[in-house]
Amino acid sequence: MNSADLDFDRKHLWHPYTSLTNPLPTYPVVAAKECQLELADGRKLVDGMSSWWAAIHGYNHPVLNKAAGDQLQKMSHVMFGGITHPPAVALGRQLVDITPDPLQRVFLADSGSVAVEVAIKMAVQYWFSRNQPEKNRMASIRGGYHGDTFAAMSVCDPVNGMHHLFQGALREQLFAPVPGLTPQDDWQESELDALETLLKNHQHELAALILEPVVQGAGGMRFYHPNYLSGAKALCEKYQVLLIADEIATGFGRTGKLFACEHAAICPDILCLGKALTGGYMTQAAVLTTTDVANTIGNGPAGGSFMHGPTFMGNPLACAVASASIEVLLSSNWQQRVAAIEQQLRDELAAARDLPAVADVRVFGAIGVMEMREPVDAASAQKFFVERGVWIRPFGKLVYLMPPFIIEPNELTQLTDAMLALARSS
Ligand SMILES: *Cc1c(COP(=O)(O)O)cnc(C)c1O
Repeated sequence: MNSADLDFDRKHLWHPYTSLTNPLPTYPVVAAKECQLELADGRKLVDGMSSWWAAIHGYNHPVLNKAAGDQLQKMSHVMFGGITHPPAVALGRQLVDITPDPLQRVFLADSGSVAVEVAIKMAVQYWFSRNQPEKNRMASIRGGYHGDTFAAMSVCDPVNGMHHLFQGALREQLFAPVPGLTPQDDWQESELDALETLLKNHQHELAALILEPVVQGAGGMRFYHPNYLSGAKALCEKYQVLLIADEIATGFGRTGKLFACEHAAICPDILCLGKALTGGYMTQAAVLTTTDVANTIGNGPAGGSFMHGPTFMGNPLACAVASASIEVLLSSNWQQRVAAIEQQLRDELAAARDLPAVADVRVFGAIGVMEMREPVDAASAQKFFVERGVWIRPFGKLVYLMPPFIIEPNELTQLTDAMLALARSS
């Protein structure tokens, strides 16, 4: 890529959450392999982001490459309306197999945000089919992130998600406070009081509670007590509200369990998966639900049809890669790898705790977070990191790592060293 390419990019291409009038700098990446991104000028960066939770096996993986290539020779896409195909059936089997037993029905969606839309639509259509159409509102907890489409935005943290920007365009949902207890804290039942009050007072209008199990990702990188999750599940049953677990970020091993719901041994009514589903190769998501939810919708009005059907639903190429990614994960020693990453993050980031610019350091599974006292200037921090041969993208006050599970200890040290260096120079 030459400077004309970068100039075109700056003038014409929107990047995530940026202005086209005053864009942040972008770095040209021309290739990626294992845990390294290669810049156009030949420099290599150790990847600390897994391309936003997705590339758990690293980049350019031979097994995933082969799955994509083999499927490409057969067909890259065919409509899912009235047609089915081997990659969709194989992936569906795997997903039913690896998730909790009650989750038997699978909807393949095109992205995480769409999966959240589908989950919310399922919950609303469920109560509609039970002749309780007034149960169509959502509850969530503050500090969450569920995607960028409109229903998904409505359940994101109202401050972080900038609900004021979209006032009047977003459905007003109900929010419980951010859980206060971390997984290390002693449990107190009072932690659930506010959520119980909310569910109790609004049960007549609530379709579902949606939350990210144990780890709140892009809404603030917080970890909460697993008993909050099991308590929330019990409260949902008590007050007749469905539970949607958004595991788009946490699914596929990131937190040390295959799915974060396992930390609390609960099964949601609806489960959203995405991000690492395809090992970071392409966009695809899945929504799983129980036979009860599926049958209730199936026996309801509209001839029992569930009213959603994206053009690229069940894309064979994405299904084939997702299947391969799940096989690679399950046949690897991911538990040991995630545990080793967790231990190394704890050991190496601990030193940041004593630095004046650092407010908090927290680690859970293969996720390491350094929260600063002041917001980090993203452009200068990225430059600082690239000069040190690492790829870390801070947002707000948060500088954090969620590396591919295949990362080598010396590569991880390069990442944590760079974080400490940034904190020392702040
Ligand atoms: C990323 C994310 C989403 C949205 O997924 P996209 O594929 O970006 O639309 C939803 N929920 C959670 C928890 C996420 O981390």
